[in-house]
Amino acid sequence: MKIKRQKQAKKNISFYKYNFSFREPFQILVDGTFCQAALKNKIQIKEQMPKYLMGEVQLCTTNCALKELETLGKELYGAKIILQRYQVRRCAHFKDPIPASECLLSMLGKTNPHHYFIATQDHSLTTALKEIPGVPLFYIILNTIVLDKPSQASLDYVQKVQLGSW
Ligand SMILES: [Zn+2]
Repeated sequence: MKIKRQKQAKKNISFYKYNFSFREPFQILVDGTFCQAALKNKIQIKEQMPKYLMGEVQLCTTNCALKELETLGKELYGAKIILQRYQVRRCAHFKDPIPASECLLSMLGKTNPHHYFIATQDHSLTTALKEIPGVPLFYIILNTIVLDKPSQASLDYVQKVQLGSW
């Protein structure tokens, strides 16, 4: 089972490397929901991510994601401690924080030019992210970090590019 998962991961990672120019160190934008799930499942994000991606990673977040955790209160204190250790990427909402899901979407724009991976458990956010081509998604399921398979938008994009080069 484990080997199968690793093979699948390798295939997905090559897809993003080859078609969307993802390079090390891989940039992973993490939100509070992911940290919370990792904590619950005793997953060490910092240890697991480089293994999973078989390369160097940079874990990052935004000020909005941090602020959101603060407002959600004590229950998420542990998640906040984890998230605080990550690099804070500049978003456009420094003075007026917005919900983390909206902030992360704004970090990607229409084409994810900075090649972010997104790590979240927020379903409405992942639905929106799947509309943007070239956004690899991490989530936690059954005590494990999983990289989602490429979205239809990503596959369509790649197909269009390939047809264009014929
Ligand atoms: Zn923001």
